[in-house]
Amino acid sequence: MAQLIDGKAVAARVRAEVKSEVARLQAERGLIPGLAVVRVGDDPASQVYVAGKKKAAEEVGFRSWEHHRDSSISQDELLALVHRLNEDPAVHGILVQLPLPRHLDADAILSSVRPEKDVDGFHPLNAGSLLLGRPATRACTPLGVMRLLEEVGCEPAGKNAVVVGRSNIVGKPMALMLLQRNATVTLCHSKSDLPAEVSRADILVVAVGVRELIKGAWVKPGAVVIDVGMNRKEDGKLVGDVEFTAAAERASFITPVPGGVGPMTIAMLIRNTLEAAMRGVTPPSH
Ligand code: NDP
Repeated sequence: MAQLIDGKAVAARVRAEVKSEVARLQAERGLIPGLAVVRVGDDPASQVYVAGKKKAAEEVGFRSWEHHRDSSISQDELLALVHRLNEDPAVHGILVQLPLPRHLDADAILSSVRPEKDVDGFHPLNAGSLLLGRPATRACTPLGVMRLLEEVGCEPAGKNAVVVGRSNIVGKPMALMLLQRNATVTLCHSKSDLPAEVSRADILVVAVGVRELIKGAWVKPGAVVIDVGMNRKEDGKLVGDVEFTAAAERASFITPVPGGVGPMTIAMLIRNTLEAAMRGVTPPSH
């Protein structure tokens, strides 16, 4: 029977580490990290996520601001808001909550955030630097997964790591981070032979968004299973992309949903914001 990976506990430790760093920064340099969150429209899930991020930011001693705009906001108005936050020296991290309404060009908005303030790691410069193996702000969810692997003593080097899902925000950066740690990486998607690929995985990370897509019987005995998926059941409960009970019978470690990867995403956002503040922001060049 697999051991549970307690993401909630690890995330609490990460936030506690950040909190003590914030106290030190404030005492030594009079610096308080600032996180600005931009939310457009009234998507209920976004509202919950943003409230969670703001609460976590305040708990560690950051300044935080939520800029909520009506869904009728124009591209130019939203770009102007991001520009203002880019120029504001009290703001070290900017997060634009996705999804944005369809009339807005999300790629252009994400690219307008100054890379030094892009605490989500979604700016093309940060995403590209990860690909090239250069220092960069890394996407929070895969970064959180890497921390969970570390916590359970799972060394990726030489292991077969299989990532299911190839989104720009989870799957692709996840595969790159595992590759950088010398795993042999397979990146799967909707056209892959999942039973065959999954059964070879020493490390399995699933980020699809299809309830219980990955059958427990496919899991390699002893594998470390990380379930990023968050799917809402009819009764309102959250479930992952992996058939949990059956997978737990074969895996060595497994994340629960909820309480696995979810809390880590917010903790890593907080960590990325602290690091942005510590690096300092050079004045914009005009
Ligand atoms: P996307 O919808 O952007 O990507 C889904 C990926 O899954 C695509 O690459 C798609 O393949 C692949 N896929 C879809 N159906 C199948 C299938 N039947 N077999 C194999 N692959 C399939 O999702 P995200 O990456 O944004 O999110 C994935 C999940 O993770 C969601 O449940 C989301 O809620 C959750 N999530 C959780 C976070 C957390 O903090 N815990 C943070 C971010 C996301 P193709 O490219 O071929 O279409």
